Amino acid sequence: MSAVVKSKRQFGADIIKVNTPKIKESEVLVEVEATSICGTDIHIWDWNEWAQHRMKKIPIIFGHEVAGKVVEIGKNVTGIQVGDRVSAETHIVDNTCYQCRTDRKHVCKNMEILGVDRDGVFAEQFALPEENAWRNDPHIDPGIASIQEPLGNAVQAILPKEHVEDIAGKNVAVLGAGPIGLMAIAVLKELGAAQVFATAGGLNKVRMDLAKRMGADMVLSVKEEGNRLVKSIVDATEGNGVDVALEMSGDPHAVRQAFDMLTPGGRVSLLGIFENSVELDLNNAVVFKSATVYGITGRRMFETWFQVRGLLAKPSFLEKIEAVITHRIPIRDIEKGMNLIKSKQAGKVVLEPKW
Ligand SMILES: [Zn+2]
Ligand SMILES: [Zn+2]
Repeated sequence: MSAVVKSKRQFGADIIKVNTPKIKESEVLVEVEATSICGTDIHIWDWNEWAQHRMKKIPIIFGHEVAGKVVEIGKNVTGIQVGDRVSAETHIVDNTCYQCRTDRKHVCKNMEILGVDRDGVFAEQFALPEENAWRNDPHIDPGIASIQEPLGNAVQAILPKEHVEDIAGKNVAVLGAGPIGLMAIAVLKELGAAQVFATAGGLNKVRMDLAKRMGADMVLSVKEEGNRLVKSIVDATEGNGVDVALEMSGDPHAVRQAFDMLTPGGRVSLLGIFENSVELDLNNAVVFKSATVYGITGRRMFETWFQVRGLLAKPSFLEKIEAVITHRIPIRDIEKGMNLIKSKQAGKVVLEPKW
């Protein structure tokens, strides 16, 4: 079969012929119908510092956001059938460690990530443990089904656990208008947030327009607003500040802004990944503000997936998520897809299985 393989510890990747994966007894073999490009894939493609340290297995087929059709099942598979349409929960866990046994599977100590630690989905077919196969509505568009994984990241940032405070009627800021930030805006509006404030770096018209399309009540350009940014948002909340701030940019300035615009007793979810350690005045940002802070990684397994399914069942929400996919290109043009994302002129880029 054809696959996009990171064959050398350097920039780029090769599209080559490889053997079709052999599945284990508890795995399913999936034929890819759509994949999408994640920031992680860009790091792997670019071979940046993160990738150099993180990637142990080379050569590897990368890619992890996917939708496809099950074409073979292992002997011990009971819940999935040939012909089922599935997406992948990309965190493959051991089910036995301390975290797994205490309802925190998404941070399993022995976790393997699809397309990072084991062969991923930028291929014609891939192997997946049954436990990680999320059965899709057979009628859902494969492109949309493929972006449920990052959509789940957005949902987890908004609803990091059961009985978290209501979103309905609350003022929320989303810092960073990349694909996950954009999807978060749509989720927040669906959940009844009072006002959603979105901030976008530079003067990124594509992303600012998309943020509006997602339903943001106010979209602020970080570049244009400069030092006024926090005040503009606080002023729009009768001087109270936001109840919830979602940091989705990985920019150290945005973290400080998130806490500055937070109302005392409010909550911050941190999802963006920072290049270096970040300086923050913890006394004023967290302690005296009595702020609650969540680190967001992956999706709760599998509560988040059920929440995503529920949201996608709403036509108006589905339409917005569809709009986040700005490009659908053949996977043989993957390099073009990588460049589109790097230019920040794209939302989500979906790759179709055209080799
Ligand atoms: Zn991803
Ligand atoms: Zn575990």
